[in-house]
Amino acid sequence: MPDPAPLLSVLDLRERSLSAAELSAALPRAELDVEAAAAAVRPVVEDVAARGAAAVLDASERFDGIRPEHLRVPAAAIEQALAELDPAIRTALEESIARVRAVDSAQRRPDERVEVVPGGTVTQRWVPVRRVGLYVPGGRAVLPSSVIMNVVPAQVAGVRQIVLASPPQKERGGLPDPTILAACALLGVTEVIAAGGAQAIALLAHGAEDLGDGRGLDAVDMITGPGNVYVAAAKRLVRGRVGIDAEAGPTEIAILADAEAHPAYVAADLISQAEHDPMAASVLVTDAPELVDAVEAELAEQVAQAPRADLIAEALRGEQSGVVLVRDVEQGIEVVDSYGAEHLEIHTAEAAEVAARVTNAGAVFVGPHAPVSLGDYAAGSNHVLPTGGSARFGGGLGVQTFLRGIHVVDYDEAALKSARHAATTLAAAEGLPAHGRAIDIRFER
Ligand code: NAD
Repeated sequence: MPDPAPLLSVLDLRERSLSAAELSAALPRAELDVEAAAAAVRPVVEDVAARGAAAVLDASERFDGIRPEHLRVPAAAIEQALAELDPAIRTALEESIARVRAVDSAQRRPDERVEVVPGGTVTQRWVPVRRVGLYVPGGRAVLPSSVIMNVVPAQVAGVRQIVLASPPQKERGGLPDPTILAACALLGVTEVIAAGGAQAIALLAHGAEDLGDGRGLDAVDMITGPGNVYVAAAKRLVRGRVGIDAEAGPTEIAILADAEAHPAYVAADLISQAEHDPMAASVLVTDAPELVDAVEAELAEQVAQAPRADLIAEALRGEQSGVVLVRDVEQGIEVVDSYGAEHLEIHTAEAAEVAARVTNAGAVFVGPHAPVSLGDYAAGSNHVLPTGGSARFGGGLGVQTFLRGIHVVDYDEAALKSARHAATTLAAAEGLPAHGRAIDIRFER
């Protein structure tokens, strides 16, 4: 017998007026726990830093149930995965690659040279990161689409060295999932590591002298990619040694909907992200109590039919999921901005205008024909997006993630003279006379 109790708890804000801080504290969010997970994975990260490949293998045995024979996936296994790939999946991967590449190609910024004064220029150069490590999940589900979402922007940015890591699969003799390997082959990625979780992140960050095949692995300069809470925690621990993208942990969907929204679509979209992870968050923000009842009825029916019903129900019942009842769409925008969802869908009248007013979200999906799963695979947008409210200060993965801005300052004598007064005066005001002297000396000798 399915449990008849509603899956989503309801927070009613219609009669309440909360400060920004109170609102943020009241919204459903996991007590998570990246910090707690960081404490759990710190020993793994430290062990990999100290003992390299041997520590990675020990952790794989413990967390993935297998010691892979090859930590570095042999080229033949990557080629074989492509040769054996189902043609329909190959076509789908190629379609997805083409769409993401089309969007990313427009993101490549040109260098910008500004003549500040005659003879004095500052040029903003955009330089790709030299070597990057890309993480592709493969725990509860394997995500070949994440190969595309990581690799394409890195390649468009001009990154020369790409190493990709994904968990070893027990039933594949310790190789990563074959569709992941095939996607690597399609994109020309040849350096692939069979490691998952914190051990993979630590290996990418620290490198190793010998991966067990007599060859070392160079540490990367930056790690990107989505993953579960342990992956997010490990990225937090190695940040500073390497760069990381925004934290892309367990997935979140928020839906802002009014009475006109289609309950079956809303329910299907809440479920679609809940099936990722028991920690996934599904949040409905609406001014229509009748929609809540209709969505609950749809959820009861659709969850019961879903293959991952238990996992979905756990995610929907979790403290991180729920319904927020608001007075009107106006208050709804306040709520979704405070929440800063990884994915935000707008199912209201004038959806495009409402979407344009939202400022905190990883990605926004407008209207009834743009479900998040379109963006997961084939919209052309990127699906590696900030979670846990980090959309307030970080964006999704894109070409820009892999570029660093370098200012190149080129002034001749006359141009320096024009800046002499301002620079030396500020140097004196800051009590740093040697700064001023370094300018004055050029006009004295
Ligand atoms: P995963 O590859 O992220 O994690 C699997 C690894 O977790 C294993 O290899 C194991 O080493 C480690 N692990 C498992 N249990 C552990 C424990 N108790 N202690 C230490 N390590 C442990 O795969 P997954 O678990 O399927 O998670 C994928 C995640 O990626 C989901 O949460 C999904 O929501 C998220 N995701 C996020 C985005 C985004 O952009 N935010 C995009 C896609 C997917």
